[in-house]
Amino acid sequence: MSTLRLATWPLEKIAEKAGAQLHGWRDGRVSGVSTDTRSIAPGALFVALRGERFDGHRFVESAFERGASAALVDAAWWGDYADPDGAQMFFVVDDTLNALARLGHALWQEATAEGLHTVAVTGSNGKTTTKELLSALWSTRGKVWATPGNLNNHIGVPLTLCALPVDCDHLICEMGANHIGEIAHLVRLAPGSARVITSIGSAHLEGFGSMEGIRRGKSEIFEHSDADSHAVFPFSEKDELVLEGFSGTRWTFGHQEGARVRVVSLRERAPGEPSGMTVGLEVDSRELTLSLPLLGMHNATNLAAALATLAANGVELDESLLNEALARLVLPGGRFRQLVVQGVHILDDAYNANPSSVRASVEAFERWAAARDCQGRYAVLGEMLELGEGAAGAHAELARWVALRPSIDGLAFVGGFSELMARSALEVRSELDVCAFSSITRELTDWVGARQGSAVLLKGSRGGRLETIVDALTNDP
Ligand code: ATP
Ligand code: MG
Repeated sequence: MSTLRLATWPLEKIAEKAGAQLHGWRDGRVSGVSTDTRSIAPGALFVALRGERFDGHRFVESAFERGASAALVDAAWWGDYADPDGAQMFFVVDDTLNALARLGHALWQEATAEGLHTVAVTGSNGKTTTKELLSALWSTRGKVWATPGNLNNHIGVPLTLCALPVDCDHLICEMGANHIGEIAHLVRLAPGSARVITSIGSAHLEGFGSMEGIRRGKSEIFEHSDADSHAVFPFSEKDELVLEGFSGTRWTFGHQEGARVRVVSLRERAPGEPSGMTVGLEVDSRELTLSLPLLGMHNATNLAAALATLAANGVELDESLLNEALARLVLPGGRFRQLVVQGVHILDDAYNANPSSVRASVEAFERWAAARDCQGRYAVLGEMLELGEGAAGAHAELARWVALRPSIDGLAFVGGFSELMARSALEVRSELDVCAFSSITRELTDWVGARQGSAVLLKGSRGGRLETIVDALTNDP
């Protein structure tokens, strides 16, 4: 494993960059950063964050018991704390979240001065997928450090930066947001030379207020740029995004005529072959045929976004090198997991859901089921969270949209709005097999289990935990 840059920094330098005062025992180095005592590694600096439900300062003792070398705490807590023998090391600041961000940014600055190249990735859907694609594709050209899992918010981005290894050439940093101003803050911490928007859709409508708000919020990724920066965004959004003031190069991607990186064909591999698709692309009219171990048009578009980013950075696109890299791609769990349980072909995409990602998922599911020759096609759709005032309307509209897909034979709706969704689906297609469940019950599991020989899609927001249907079916002989 590579050494973390932070582990090479003397304690005084950490204190200075975090804006902290050092108290108590002073020896050795800090070998990492953690905000969670449950997963803290020995030698790490424990950062006590104050959240809505938890105050990390309550866990300072436990962090030391678990081997933390030091704790970053706020002055308010420190004022009441007694450490008579000074046996432990503390970094004391006014605001621990802010100090974490300062530390992450300082590490990024130093790495950048030594040649680190950064790509910042945002968008309504497809951030993690595109980040993993970029990470796989760029690893043929040097050492890559990418956001671990989905650590993409105001805590996750600083943590990603604090974990930068010393010997890293490329940073791929996922940046997520659920309100205006968040991306502007994150991109200031690591203003990459390439800025990518993967897609614009109705995710987190609650916090952004409107689609216009979403576009404005995502466009913040282009702030703090210079003439050497590259903006990469969907062709379909070229007139909608806010790019005034962006002085670098612009790269569009998509499947429409005019996109600089364009998906021109897509063929799903037959059952029996390794799962995935063959994607034909044109990059500035040069043709490429790539083998992608993922499904769905949306993933072909994510691949186009990744290729546009590489091309923008002047990377030569060698087909065989790209294919070798793509063969190694692994996505974090819950995205298009394919399995057969009790004779039911299940596509588990229950990692998250919003109106645009559900549509993308249903379309990909239809192609997947068609390639498998499944008898029937069914979808279990959970609640889509964080949609704000328009939530009921958005659920009803989605239910009507999916019910009108001719290839769909039945629908089960689960959780909040399930009754409304069922009614809306039946309004437009009364002969459809439609059920509503207030939660994941035995009846729902049986409904899925009865679809032997058919294909079933599971799609819902993280909180709905639809993947537990698979666990229930697996454990039920
Ligand atoms: P999060 O906001 O939770 O971090 P994300 O933007 O990182 O999500 P991914 O994890 O890459 O997104 O994908 C989540 C789901 O979004 C996928 O399972 C798929 O259903 C859908 N999805 C992925 N890419 C796209 C896309 N380009 N357009 C629409 N939907 C997509
Ligand atoms: Mg993500």
